[in-house]
Amino acid sequence: MKSEPLARRSQKCHPAKSLHSSRFTLHVQLFHFFVLHLCSFVDCKEGIMKKNLETLCVQAGWTPKNGESRVLPIIQSTTFKYETSEAMARLFDLEDEGYFYTRLQNPTNDAVAAKINALEGGVGCVLTSSGQAANFYAVFNICEAGDHFITSNTIYGGTFNLFGVTLKKLGIECTFVDPDWDDERIEKEFRPNTKCFFGETISNPGGNVFDIERFAKMAHRHGVPLIVDNTFATPINCRPFEWGADIVTHSTTKYMDGHACQVGGAVVDSGNFDWEAQADKFPGLCTPDESYHGLTYTKAFGKKAYTTKLVSQLMRDLGSIPAPHNSFLLNIGLETLHLRMPRHCENAQKVAEWLEANPKVAWVNYCGLPGNKYYELGQKYLPNGSCGVIAFGLKGTREDAIRFMDNLDFICIVTHVADARTCVLHPASHTHRQLSDEQLREAGVAPDLIRLSVGIENVEDIIADLEQAMGKV
Ligand code: PLP
Repeated sequence: MKSEPLARRSQKCHPAKSLHSSRFTLHVQLFHFFVLHLCSFVDCKEGIMKKNLETLCVQAGWTPKNGESRVLPIIQSTTFKYETSEAMARLFDLEDEGYFYTRLQNPTNDAVAAKINALEGGVGCVLTSSGQAANFYAVFNICEAGDHFITSNTIYGGTFNLFGVTLKKLGIECTFVDPDWDDERIEKEFRPNTKCFFGETISNPGGNVFDIERFAKMAHRHGVPLIVDNTFATPINCRPFEWGADIVTHSTTKYMDGHACQVGGAVVDSGNFDWEAQADKFPGLCTPDESYHGLTYTKAFGKKAYTTKLVSQLMRDLGSIPAPHNSFLLNIGLETLHLRMPRHCENAQKVAEWLEANPKVAWVNYCGLPGNKYYELGQKYLPNGSCGVIAFGLKGTREDAIRFMDNLDFICIVTHVADARTCVLHPASHTHRQLSDEQLREAGVAPDLIRLSVGIENVEDIIADLEQAMGKV
């Protein structure tokens, strides 16, 4: 695999080498090892960020050396074998390169993480087993029992539930705000124990565009980072760090994979948030960690404090890594992300225009439509296109919406969204059925909302299928 000799990596970017001494235990040495590995992402960034996104999609993360596999290999192994005890000892002494255990690092996972990190322009990326795990870790890495955070209320139903119900059970309270409220009203929700602000670049399923720059400035005024779920836009259409976001998450299950083959997630850190400047708010990062012999993440790892803590504490204790085989599939998807996204957007734009002109359609939400509430924000953050997901409602009853969907031909009713095949879903009956009508409205999901995920087939065929199904309503 592409990995520099550990000793060489340590010369380049090991900020804590002086901490390596005999008084440290095995855990500390392991810890140093995977921090060094995260540092390799910096090498990756410095080496390849000069290239354009299209090239990064294809090339980043895995560069074979002489005689090595051209294609990213799947290292489907929990463990890594060494010939002698002495060889293993050299790893712990940071004199040699090597992997230990896949929960902490795996060459296939790390290569794909490096690619996503390069695409988003971060300082470190951690892959997770799902998008849910990514959002959980992104928040839980800086919030603990007794803390509070604020989120846009127009977010994916699963995230809504995670934040509003499950995190509450862990003692973390969340306030849902409507991003359409004015600053004054939203800022009233910040409390002394507020630790972050969260939003989705393009909300699922509503298609609302999040004003990243506005909320980054607001979060920073209150000394907390902005976390943005960039799943629907992907870094091809929007790179939230360029607008001030501090941490980006992904459900890689969606466009990044693009073929509905694997469930996965990613957390990427910009490295820009100054944790030390808010040390009292973020003791987990800025005060000694007893589980690592009193090591302080910000002091020892600088810009990589957040991702290092995420791997060394959350991955160590909770797991949730992707299977290397899934990362391999994700990587194949990423290799064509730059080709698929423009096609999704082109098709969706035509379908949205067709829907808007159709007398059976009550309303359409797609930010590419001039006159749409989010058109201006779309032009600002997504000038090359947003995504393939359109929200619309049919005139008539809920039963009419169901009849329309049941009569579609190749457009399938699936829970999934954002892959190559056009698909459709009625969130109030499916993904969001755990929400009450009031919560649905709060989450920006109208009861008649149909989520149409436009794929990369021929757009005339997509429209013909929609037309024939509407003809039966
Ligand atoms: N974030 C967004 C915007 C999503 O649409 C989803 C799933 O649809 C998730 C997170 C959760 O991702 P996963 O299904 O990979 O756990």
